[in-house]
Amino acid sequence: MIIKPMIRNNVCLNSHPAGCAKAVHNQIAYVRQNLAKRKDPAAVKMEASKGSPALVMVLGCSTGYGLASRIAAAFGYGAATVGVSFEKAPSPTKTGTPGWYNNQCFDAEAAKAHLPLKTIIGDAFSDEIKAETAKAVKEIAAEAGIPAKVDLVIYSLATPVRTDPKTGIMHRSVIKPIGQPYSGDTLDIMSGAIINSRAEPATEDEIANTIKVMGGEDWELWIDAMEKEGILAPRARTAAYTYIGPELSWAIYKNGTIGQAKKDLERAAAAITGSGKAKAWVSVNKALVTRASAVIPIIPFYVSTLFKVMKEKGVHEGCIEQIVRLFAERLYTEESICDTAKVPVDSEDRIRIDDWEMREDVQQETLTRMDKITAENVSELTDIAGFRHDFLAVHGFDVEGIDYETDFDPLGF
Ligand code: NAD
Repeated sequence: MIIKPMIRNNVCLNSHPAGCAKAVHNQIAYVRQNLAKRKDPAAVKMEASKGSPALVMVLGCSTGYGLASRIAAAFGYGAATVGVSFEKAPSPTKTGTPGWYNNQCFDAEAAKAHLPLKTIIGDAFSDEIKAETAKAVKEIAAEAGIPAKVDLVIYSLATPVRTDPKTGIMHRSVIKPIGQPYSGDTLDIMSGAIINSRAEPATEDEIANTIKVMGGEDWELWIDAMEKEGILAPRARTAAYTYIGPELSWAIYKNGTIGQAKKDLERAAAAITGSGKAKAWVSVNKALVTRASAVIPIIPFYVSTLFKVMKEKGVHEGCIEQIVRLFAERLYTEESICDTAKVPVDSEDRIRIDDWEMREDVQQETLTRMDKITAENVSELTDIAGFRHDFLAVHGFDVEGIDYETDFDPLGF
């Protein structure tokens, strides 16, 4: 069938199998070019004995930062990877979710490169999937002839709902301010119209539920479960991702419900490290376009302007560029590869790869420009075209090299 994007209210309802696959190929090529070239194959084994990742688990492996992390670990370090994600399969008449096709492409490419892998589709919050994943770790290690000890766990789940495995209660997260209403400009990314968005303050219940969904509790449960199964390496590392951003977004983000959940991630990082089970970090990443970012108030407006400025200054990055920097220049540098105390962190023990976004000149220029934006100059002063492209591309559309007038099988390949 011919597959064209179906977009309603800044949400894309379908995806393109070939476009998703092409985008995954592009990320693999980037890693091969920029990370793998730093080492020859013989060095990979030797470095693994020193501490570089050999068996990696990625929770939220199918899109965004999690997918980039899995690609970097596998194609940059030759690691065996176990990935967990929650994705919907296609049918002969309906496309699957983008992450479904991304997984399909990752699996095929990793198999081709003889990189051991297991991909699990299911609810990462459940006890069943935790048990299934532990089993997969043991199987993959046996197949690869390596110890069943995971040395890196990336926690990159992003979701609006979580069912607590102990109580069976389903919690829902919200993106709302705390204490007072929020009102600010945002962009309708498809039309380019500037619209005012307003959000009422969260209730105590909504705050608690958002922490339950996007906070650190489940990360800790994963690390506990792995330790009980005996599948954590003695010097295991783990990282979860967060965002801080500029002050103008704090009312809705950092100081809002999601920010409280992110604060809880930092609590969990300290607790995991304190338990001695693994060394845990929260990594502060750059704002990027993902499936959900178009609907968060202020974000499309800020990110479109930021992208324009970062591109002009030659410091723009996507997911894969960010993650290659996280691995090569933070988690596994020559110094930090065998000593976690040498991983560069800020005063709060957080890894910062949002450093280029937060550079003073970048922020100043972005904020000054945002003040001048009107309906007439929006395409000129912001990179709304880039935002729109990225938004379509995460769903497999508008990807260079794909002929969207051709018939494609929604089942993928
Ligand atoms: P994303 O939506 O692209 O990916 C989310 C992943 O979680 C997918 O693989 C999805 O399948 C998986 N997932 C969701 N619910 C699941 C469940 N119940 N069980 C198993 N898997 C499930 O998200 P992203 O933008 O890459 O965000 C990942 C992390 O990075 C989040 O913590 C986010 O806050 C953080 N972050 C994002 C940005 C940004 O701009 N996108 C910036 C900084 C930090």
